[in-house]
Amino acid sequence: MSSSYPETLEELMSALRRLPGVGRRAAERLGLALLEWDKEELRQLGETLSTLREKVTRCPRCAGLAENNALCPVCRDQSRDKTTLCVVETMTQMLAVESGGHFRGRYLVLGGRISPLDGEDGSGLNFDLLEKILNEGEIREVILALSSDVEGCATAAFLAEQLKKFQVRVSRPASGLPAGANLSYADGATIAAAFDGRIILTENH
Ligand SMILES: [Zn+2]
Repeated sequence: MSSSYPETLEELMSALRRLPGVGRRAAERLGLALLEWDKEELRQLGETLSTLREKVTRCPRCAGLAENNALCPVCRDQSRDKTTLCVVETMTQMLAVESGGHFRGRYLVLGGRISPLDGEDGSGLNFDLLEKILNEGEIREVILALSSDVEGCATAAFLAEQLKKFQVRVSRPASGLPAGANLSYADGATIAAAFDGRIILTENH
């Protein structure tokens, strides 16, 4: 297949096409739009991209995204409740819960979920960090805010079992999140209501 675009532009467009939701036409539009940017703006964008993986790191406290190995803004906030821990699968879900503005505790980002069919047995997930947090002894309640699909439920069930050895209450948000949907697509008010009416799985004080 031949293309009428110069090779460098073609290379840029094929990189853009790797982004979610960007098809061939969108990649063309974006590539041509970038060509209109000032040299300095392009240089800055290039600089951001080339240092992205070094500068954006995992927060040592919640495993969410942070800058230069520092704590993320949520973990830095001293006014937050240190006794409630919300376990989510992804950073996107953490931000979705934050958008509800209702939850004021700590987070742990698991980094995925157990999905045996996809060969994900949970070995790459942040279970060790979860245990470490619970061993610190401050947490009184763990809210398992995972996706409401099969894998999310399987992960929640696994975690509820694992958490029985700790003196903590284990709960999950009330139904109200669309079945099979990712938590990150629910709006803030829905999430706030689901947290308000959360269901206790284990009462273990
Ligand atoms: Zn954090």
